[in-house]
Amino acid sequence: MTKATTVLTGHGLWYEGAPHDENGVRMYGRGTTGTGRGICRCGEKSPILHSAGQRQQWHREHKATIRSAATTAGATVKVGQVWADNDKRSVGRTITITTVGESRAEFFDGIHHRRALLTRFRPTSTGYRLVKDVLGTPQHEATLQD
Ligand SMILES: [Zn+2]
Repeated sequence: MTKATTVLTGHGLWYEGAPHDENGVRMYGRGTTGTGRGICRCGEKSPILHSAGQRQQWHREHKATIRSAATTAGATVKVGQVWADNDKRSVGRTITITTVGESRAEFFDGIHHRRALLTRFRPTSTGYRLVKDVLGTPQHEATLQD
């Protein structure tokens, strides 16, 4: 058995690629053989695949997709930018980026300092959208003070 797995926080393949049914319930009770869907801890389901190897391959590609999305977002998210929360429950809420890390950004929402995955900084219904970009050097007041 080859172990070419790399760990990505929050994205583990359940039961090493054991097959699951449409509802995400593990099939056959034991082992990893058989036809079904692989399921990631993030909730993503693979198409119906016929072996654990295929499901593990699917999961490697899934993680690569998540990573490249983070990289793309990381190139976009900059200290000092103002983003608006797209979540309907948070209308009008804006945040200012204070720190950009490898996979997460820290921000200040006017009350609290919080962190979010870089992948959330894209225009989806639950993500953030950019409302004010920075030009040149980051704004001084946006620097995180501990
Ligand atoms: Zn995942």
